[in-house]
Amino acid sequence: MNLLSNSILDESALNDNPINNGRTLTTQAIWFRNDLRVYDNPALHQAMSVSATRQALENTRTIAVFCVFHKQWQHHDMAQCKQFFIKESLFALKLSLIELRVPLVVLDCPNFADAAKVLSAFCRKYGIHHLFANKEYEFNERQRDHHVAQKLAQQGIHSHWFDDQCILPPGSVLKADQTAYCVFTPFSKRWKEYAYQQGTPTLTVPTPQPAFECETPEWPDCLQQLLPVPANHYFEGGEASAQRRLSAFLKEGIEGYHLERDRPDLDVTSQLSAHLSIGTVSARDCLNRALEYQYGDLFAAQRGSSVWINELIWRDFYRHLLIHFPKLCQHRPFKDETEQVPWRNDAQAFNAWCQGKTGFPIVDAGMRQLQERGWMHNRVRMITAMFLTKHLLIDWRKGEQWFMQHLIDGDLASNNGGWQWSASTGTDAVPYFRIFNPITQSKKCDPEGDYIRRYVPELASLDQDSIHNPTALERQRLNYPEPMVDLSQARERALAAFKIASGNARTRKALTRKERTKKAQNSKTV
Ligand code: FAD
Repeated sequence: MNLLSNSILDESALNDNPINNGRTLTTQAIWFRNDLRVYDNPALHQAMSVSATRQALENTRTIAVFCVFHKQWQHHDMAQCKQFFIKESLFALKLSLIELRVPLVVLDCPNFADAAKVLSAFCRKYGIHHLFANKEYEFNERQRDHHVAQKLAQQGIHSHWFDDQCILPPGSVLKADQTAYCVFTPFSKRWKEYAYQQGTPTLTVPTPQPAFECETPEWPDCLQQLLPVPANHYFEGGEASAQRRLSAFLKEGIEGYHLERDRPDLDVTSQLSAHLSIGTVSARDCLNRALEYQYGDLFAAQRGSSVWINELIWRDFYRHLLIHFPKLCQHRPFKDETEQVPWRNDAQAFNAWCQGKTGFPIVDAGMRQLQERGWMHNRVRMITAMFLTKHLLIDWRKGEQWFMQHLIDGDLASNNGGWQWSASTGTDAVPYFRIFNPITQSKKCDPEGDYIRRYVPELASLDQDSIHNPTALERQRLNYPEPMVDLSQARERALAAFKIASGNARTRKALTRKERTKKAQNSKTV
């Protein structure tokens, strides 16, 4: 038994708003999901401040709940290191909640489809009257929450949903005609105006509630057993760890961020993505702390902080798109015509890319960093993704899935956005004819070759001139593979494939136009 306080909750005493010491007893739950923190947590804050104001009249108690969707996580390709990161952060959350005297119940709920049933039983058991949660914007998650809300409503339980994951909620940054922005620059301009008008305040940690008696079951086996410490455990979970990382970045990295963010050899970016992906820190908090470096001026330009804030806006942009274009959650490209790209089905080439054995040192370093750390630098994500989709002409969805299976920060919106950007299938994506040359990119972003040396140790003895593209002799001597493609031929092949796709799409459009005109003419003659 896992007891928050000494004695056991009398379940019958909580049901049906009973009278407790002459006052009505209201029990409410906060359902934690991708928001594993107590600072600046809208749902928790709202639940607890409501309970604080209602305290005098009603005896309000808050219980926290977390569902381990272990089968769904597998189905969604969640990396093992991310699962472990969640588990670690959950332990940290439990301790923070103890300080607020909020017990945490962890439930085994294999699939999203089980959520309504499992949460309904939980609410019955603990006599819950209100459920609070922060919204998730992915398609399956929204469906799950809809069913949960419906089911609980049938039991007379009110559910309350809050925007939290983005700095500005999806739907709030729209064009004058109320449609979604599909291009980042105008989106970010409007985003800043709106953020300036509305403000983006962070919320304090709620005051502790009075101690009360509540029994919480042992944490389920699915959490305890399925997730051993992964080999690539480089990121420490939990809110305190996120705050330490944020403070260190603000102190040491943010000033020069605009100058050095594309240098994977320097480790100067915040590496907060894993924390942001499970909400151990909020994006609002990051924004407000960064704004201190530009005297609160959101419109300041050309400083490290403003370039970093721009990345947080990219994060919002991709999340907003999920709501406006649900097809992005369904493995479909943003640009319909790119469905026609004749992707190659080459298992051997895909495997060489996954294992970091392409013969292009910067690509191999990135792919090995991914397996070793569960994380990859942004510039190298772009280089490796473009190499797969353009030089190997392999479907971006295969790369997207491989990244999800290995990234500690794996996140549908940003991963899909990054992949569709690199593959030129997405909104505001790189034009299909702008193809990164991995050797030129390597010389630019890793000039001394230190990043390559760290992750491709067999090349460590090479100097900075040859490490980006070793000679045939050096490759043979160091047992490093030959380049798997000729870059210029591969580039031509990609250009041709994209041209065919856009040509086909144009023909189909013209045909449908023709068919429409013919139909219209026929209907006139009839
Ligand atoms: P910083 O440079 O310190 O940026 C701060 C924060 O801004 C990041 O933590 C992240 O939350 C956000 N951010 C930065 N760049 C981007 C971007 N281009 N798009 C969206 N948000 C951004 N990011 C993920 O969080 N999860 C993913 O699964 C993911 N997959 C990607 C796949 C590809 C092919 C590409 C090109 C990019 C992907 N990104 C993803 C975006 C980006 O690479 C990472 O967010 C970044 O590398 C994380 O490092 P950091 O925390 O040091 O970022």
